Amino acid sequence: MPHQDPLFGIEQMPHPHPDPAEPTSSRYRDSREAHRLLAVKEIHAEPAAAASPRGRQILARFPEARLVEVPSHWRIPDLHGNEGSADRWMRVKRETLVLGVRKKLTTRPNGRSADWIAPGPSNGCALSCVYCYVPRRKGFANPITLFTNIDALVAHLGRHVAAQGPKTEPNQCDPEAWVYDIGENGDCSVDALICDNTADLIRAFRDWPTAKASFATKFVNPDLLELDPRGRTRIRFSVMPADDSRLLDLRTSPVDRRIAAAADFLDAGYEVHFNLSPVVVRPGWQDAWDELLRHMDDVLPERVKRQALAEVIMLTHNADLHEVNLRWHPRGEDVLWRPELQETKRSQNGALNLRYHAGVKRQALAELRDLIARRTPWLGVRYAF
Ligand code: SF4
Repeated sequence: MPHQDPLFGIEQMPHPHPDPAEPTSSRYRDSREAHRLLAVKEIHAEPAAAASPRGRQILARFPEARLVEVPSHWRIPDLHGNEGSADRWMRVKRETLVLGVRKKLTTRPNGRSADWIAPGPSNGCALSCVYCYVPRRKGFANPITLFTNIDALVAHLGRHVAAQGPKTEPNQCDPEAWVYDIGENGDCSVDALICDNTADLIRAFRDWPTAKASFATKFVNPDLLELDPRGRTRIRFSVMPADDSRLLDLRTSPVDRRIAAAADFLDAGYEVHFNLSPVVVRPGWQDAWDELLRHMDDVLPERVKRQALAEVIMLTHNADLHEVNLRWHPRGEDVLWRPELQETKRSQNGALNLRYHAGVKRQALAELRDLIARRTPWLGVRYAF
């Protein structure tokens, strides 16, 4: 059964293990569950993207989809924006893809979660977390844009990795490898339902002994287990208390499934970390996190615990997002929009972002660290933000 949110009628994804009675191919991406998340009917493509090998692969995968040529993947008025209802946004995310050529291939320094932010293979997401920062630029109706020049992206990264040489000083990102975040503006596990961009990156990194790919995900895609990353990709399963997740993480895999998948991913050659994020301060949040951490301690096997580390990320919200969410999901805003606890900060692009007051954040992080020390003492915190 899907995990139905009774208030909104919008589901989290069901158990991702293939149904044995279902006559599908062995690939999860062809399963009924995957189809519930993504049933592509329309593909908007730049001509060069459609003509490229990756573009042709994607078009062949969805032969029934209508192809619409667009001059640029960046602004497609019919697709992007906050107009219309949540139903429309969800439909766009499920039924529409965009193909483009990524013009700018720039790797940026980070230093917190990763050493470097790689130019991502996608922008946009078929999942629909209500706090997500990705739609801030294109709006909620922000389907997945796949960048088809993946060869150029991999070649760029290869040059960047080579230019760094070996990492000589351990840091919070990794003691030995230069860590590249490859999923800044999307979810690589979801992208892998569509094409081989994620697979190409994972395969490239396994041949670069001084570097490691890293991406956060809220979706369990068993097809990634076949990719043989040989320890050079870190998958970071994002987790939060189940009640928060049901309210805020729409269309994702349930949190207990993300946790249950950790051992399979480790055994398949991934490094498996956890993002405790976002931490949402609401009445009773400490008890909810306590329960989550106890659950992790109960179900995760020792081999996962031995290598797991965590990032802790407090919620950042946004005034425009708040206005949009009020129109379709006000109950989520009851926990996300807490002006008495938050302060505003104008970002470089003019957006008004909200973060917890420094004192609130300090206190919450101290409480969460205390819970971690008591319930999951094996879970080191790489960084808390
Ligand atoms: S999985 Fe990540 S990119 Fe996708 S909607 Fe959620 S927060 Fe945004």
